[in-house]
Amino acid sequence: MLDVTPMPAAIVAATDLAHHLHPFADMKELAAGGIRVMTRGEGVYVHDAEGKRYLDAFAGLWCVNVGYGRREIADAVFAQMNELPYYNTFFATTTTPTAQLAAKICSHAGPDINRVFFTCSGSEANDTWLRMARVYWATRGRPERKIVISRHNAYHGSTVAGASLGGMKHMHEQGDLPIPGIVHIGQPYWYGEGGDLDPAAFGLLRARELEDKILELGPDRVAAFVAEPIQGVGGVIVPPETYWPEIQRICRKYDVLLALDEVITGFGRLGSWFGYQHFGLEPDFCVVAKGLSSGYLPIAGVLVSDRVADVLVAETGAFHHGFTYSGHPVAAAAALANLKIIEDERLVERVHDDIGPYFAAALGSLGDHIMVGEVATTGLLGAVQLVLDKEKRQRFSRPADIGMIIRNFCFMRGVIVRAAADRILISPAFTISRSEIDVVVATLREVMDYVAAELS
Ligand SMILES: *Cc1c(COP(=O)(O)O)cnc(C)c1O
Repeated sequence: MLDVTPMPAAIVAATDLAHHLHPFADMKELAAGGIRVMTRGEGVYVHDAEGKRYLDAFAGLWCVNVGYGRREIADAVFAQMNELPYYNTFFATTTTPTAQLAAKICSHAGPDINRVFFTCSGSEANDTWLRMARVYWATRGRPERKIVISRHNAYHGSTVAGASLGGMKHMHEQGDLPIPGIVHIGQPYWYGEGGDLDPAAFGLLRARELEDKILELGPDRVAAFVAEPIQGVGGVIVPPETYWPEIQRICRKYDVLLALDEVITGFGRLGSWFGYQHFGLEPDFCVVAKGLSSGYLPIAGVLVSDRVADVLVAETGAFHHGFTYSGHPVAAAAALANLKIIEDERLVERVHDDIGPYFAAALGSLGDHIMVGEVATTGLLGAVQLVLDKEKRQRFSRPADIGMIIRNFCFMRGVIVRAAADRILISPAFTISRSEIDVVVATLREVMDYVAAELS
């Protein structure tokens, strides 16, 4: 059998640093700090080349929702590779897994969403609906409806359109972004930006920034509003309860399309198949990626509401857009096997009824810690807000440093979490056990005890 040539870990690391440019990385810093070679995984655990085992409480990059080492997915991929490794979906052709996957996704998406456009990544899916929204309005005789409103501190990917839709300052600073036609409003981050307002009032205030922006631009120039149901990379920011109903009202009132980026929240993370079901929303576009295949192979897409799809199908003619690997049969087979696991093991129900509530209580117990300002969870998505002075809601002067310190100490103790500035993010596989959650929470507490003692 042809295999990747085995190599000692130190040589892998050196080879990697010499030739591989990493995403979101300062390569000089990487070279100085060294790089770890990850070798295998099972369940919620990954192993490195030195034989150390980590409890991965971040599911890779919010994606390995069914856990590592799922034989069923590997078998489905192997079988499809042997049967038909590739065929395109461009020229009046399709493949069986592609068609079945589209239908399977729509069966969970609810009555008003019945079509999917496949891409290879979440970024491409965001590019896709942006063009689709403008084509939709042009088809309806409203080509001037072009502008998309997004939010500061949103994450919608790294392509030119994806990074422009996102609201990450450090990304906009590189490469002359955002592109024209994309504007940003405030985020519903009460802990960081709510001041003296209570969360409900602040949620309304931030939602009404959308209405103000629509009126400022002119409703007949706005194509869509885009948002993550819960911001992920931005810090797992769970909006106040007043926020989403008001956003939905405003989108309806001004006939602005609602695009939800569910790359993290899709396929069960919030204890519902999609985040819009959790929040009771009716999106026109729903972007999916990560959890669609649990990261086993790259596949993503845009779910399109009947309202939009019916116009595109009946009136637009060809939509001149697509990717060589749109609906790739092997990736589709992996996604089908993944969704079958989620269905057969009732993992969405598990997140909703059992492990999600346990996670909320366990992580919530950290709320009494001197370094913790708030704990926010929904389903199996959680954040711990670090704070310098709990009473005054005063944050650390260098938020990114404190987050990284906590994250790194956890990593050294064999638990993988992520830091977004001064928020610690947790997003484990849906299969995580109660005792494994206890380990994550206990490790966080130990590390915060240690850091708090060092600081005082
Ligand atoms: C990860 C992510 C993306 C980008 O997906 P890629 O597959 O990395 O292009 C877009 N939106 C959200 C909310 C994400 O978390």
